[in-house]
Amino acid sequence: MEKSWVAPDTRHPNKLDRAVIFLGPPGAGKGTQAKELAKKYGVPHLSTGDMLREHVGKGTPLGKAAKPIMERGDLVPDSLVLQMIRERIERPDCSYGFVFDGFPRTVAQAKYLGELLKHHGYKRPFVIHLAIDSSILMRRLTGRRTCKVGGEIYNIYERPPKVEGICDADGGELMQRPDDREEVIGPRLQAYEKQTAPLAAYYGRLGLLHGIDAAKSVEEVGRQVLQSVQGVRGIR
Ligand code: ADP
Ligand code: AMP
Repeated sequence: MEKSWVAPDTRHPNKLDRAVIFLGPPGAGKGTQAKELAKKYGVPHLSTGDMLREHVGKGTPLGKAAKPIMERGDLVPDSLVLQMIRERIERPDCSYGFVFDGFPRTVAQAKYLGELLKHHGYKRPFVIHLAIDSSILMRRLTGRRTCKVGGEIYNIYERPPKVEGICDADGGELMQRPDDREEVIGPRLQAYEKQTAPLAAYYGRLGLLHGIDAAKSVEEVGRQVLQSVQGVRGIR
């Protein structure tokens, strides 16, 4: 790998100095929690789903390849996702660490990430498993609405905006993701069970997994996430 890299910044001991990974099925609350955690530590929130949707929106070659795959609820091939992630984490804003949401999603992605982090001098990642019963997920996913401007996440049943269809934070229009329709949710959950769920055991064996009950309220899950992250080596 070439060295277009800014070394992890260790001058600020209370900064998040590593990658945090959110693991869990679609709808578990990865985006909601990852955004908050990244904001708290002032590090980038890296959602591979958001990045891929941006490519689709711009019609880039990657977007054109990913679009039909995402529309049917399958995973985009590792090779495409890994190149995208590598380019992203080699940017200087990642030198204090970063929060992944939706990545890694296969054991091959996790292995590649492990090598990449090691190569760039990072500590081992901290993995938060948002554990949740699948019966809750349909309501979370069909009810999800996202701000077109700032990406704020709402739920029409659980966390509605003050004014229907409008983001509280910036007045942006709320949209429903095309893959949050019932007929695509099924294949997405199947892809999770088959390709992503084994990552819990993978990270468990490495001693990096921290489980959290994701059926609790957003605030309670957030408290537990923070407690768990702060528990590692006294990060504040
Ligand atoms: P993921 O990124 O794992 O797919 P999101 O963070 O986008 O999940 O959350 C999915 C939906 O569930 C959103 O509509 C969000 O507002 C809602 N949600 C997230 N966490 C909770 C929670 N703890 N309780 C109730 N609803 C939640
Ligand atoms: P998400 O926004 O995380 O729910 O992801 C939306 C869709 O993007 C998924 O259903 C996949 O098609 C694709 N995707 C996101 N992240 C990955 C990844 N790490 N590997 C493969 N495909 C991904």
